[in-house]
Amino acid sequence: MPARRVEPPKIPTSEIKRPQTPPTSPDNAVLPAHLPPFDLGAALARTAGKPKLLRKMLLGFRDKYANAGTELWKHLAEGHTNEAERLAHTLKGIAATLEARDLTVATAALEHALRAGHTESLAPLIEAVERELAPAIAAAATLDAQPAPPPSPTPAAATTPPKSRPRILIVDDEPANIELLIEIFGNDYEVLTALEGLTAQKTATKEKPDVILLDVMMPGIDGYEVCRRLKAEPTTTCTPIIFITGLGDITAETRALELGAADYVTKPITPAAVKARVNNQILLKRAQEQLTRLAITDGLTGLANRRHFDDRMTQEHARHARSGGELSIILLDVDHFKAFNDTYGHISGDGCLTRVAGAISGVVTRATDLVARYGGEEFVCLLPMTNHRGAIAIAEKVRKAVSKLAIPHSQSSVADHVTISLGVITTRCISDRSLSNILALADEQLYAAKSSGRNRVCAASAP
Ligand code: GH3
Ligand code: MG
Ligand code: MG
Repeated sequence: MPARRVEPPKIPTSEIKRPQTPPTSPDNAVLPAHLPPFDLGAALARTAGKPKLLRKMLLGFRDKYANAGTELWKHLAEGHTNEAERLAHTLKGIAATLEARDLTVATAALEHALRAGHTESLAPLIEAVERELAPAIAAAATLDAQPAPPPSPTPAAATTPPKSRPRILIVDDEPANIELLIEIFGNDYEVLTALEGLTAQKTATKEKPDVILLDVMMPGIDGYEVCRRLKAEPTTTCTPIIFITGLGDITAETRALELGAADYVTKPITPAAVKARVNNQILLKRAQEQLTRLAITDGLTGLANRRHFDDRMTQEHARHARSGGELSIILLDVDHFKAFNDTYGHISGDGCLTRVAGAISGVVTRATDLVARYGGEEFVCLLPMTNHRGAIAIAEKVRKAVSKLAIPHSQSSVADHVTISLGVITTRCISDRSLSNILALADEQLYAAKSSGRNRVCAASAP
């Protein structure tokens, strides 16, 4: 088979989206006016306009990649083409950020050939990388002769108070990229970082960031796999993931989006654009969360609504049927509420319902419990893993708490204030008893409480 010739991918200079050169500031003294082959003006715009950060990144580049050529040859000699590809990829990324354009093009060509498996024609491509790398390393090294910048003043106070700051998880195996993104987001975001996929997955699950910036190529599990795992997990499936893909990785972008990524940004990063994209995702997520909250909340009382109760009840019914644990339900209804409305007016009626809701919530406080508005002036308490005696005790406490509100009710036949009647049912859900049957039994007990005088608890236990 004839050896294939690898055409380096043509990356027109216009494809490298060039940010606006920022105005120079006195701070620029930490850098010379020119430092070929780097385009310092453009690189400053890539590094959030921070000369000190750019200087640090240039020195970091020199330290980390001074021997990149030797390493590439070594990986190749040992047959570790994956390692070589990753090195070419990260070198391409950092070269693009630092606006060393010829080095960017040379590393892109090498990465392309490695990815395509064109192992027979790699030598000239590595030589080209070495040729472009040498002057870049030498130029960065001259910065050591420059006066070191004065120590940074204490960082300015974050512009947003910590509590309302969105949380961002930045995942990249190149520390310089992380440092740059911290510079972009550090003031307005709570920033978490991970240098590889597994840590990213763990941090995302534990810390629940509002948004994840995810690099694709990393040692261990790559960005795609991290994304796939997070999307498959209920706690992280809704977390927006923005991929950071290398320049010209069209297929990478498509693959990321198909895996459920919300968006992608291409390297080299343009700070303003990446910030805008992240902010868009945060706004979308906040809106989504608000919609979800509204969909399950009762507008008047702020309690869970009937739909939320039905969903939770279905889950708990199934869970208790499996475990055989006892599930209790309290159904309660305000006594003579029609007369209350007729006497004090509908608006006072609304206020009364809100206060009753507050009193119930003050008593039914276990994290697994749910208090919901069942409809009109009826409320329901779902008490998982609660036995009959316990449920009756809670119902009695709720009755007393409402009575203690001492909301005047001159037309009640029961007391001079607002009271409630309660029906309690406890079941193990292991028989064929349906959900609606359990609720009907609770309703029967509520009816018994009403017909036997109101302002009381009636209870039954069902096998
Ligand atoms: P009982 O003691 O038998 O429960 O009598 P009741 O008057 O409380 O029961 P009834 O079902 O006859 O009346 C319930 C009243 O609750 C009628 C309805 O207008 C009122 N109601 C239902 N939802 C709301 C609400 O959101 N706000 C107000 N203010 N009143 C409501
Ligand atoms: Mg009523
Ligand atoms: Mg009623």
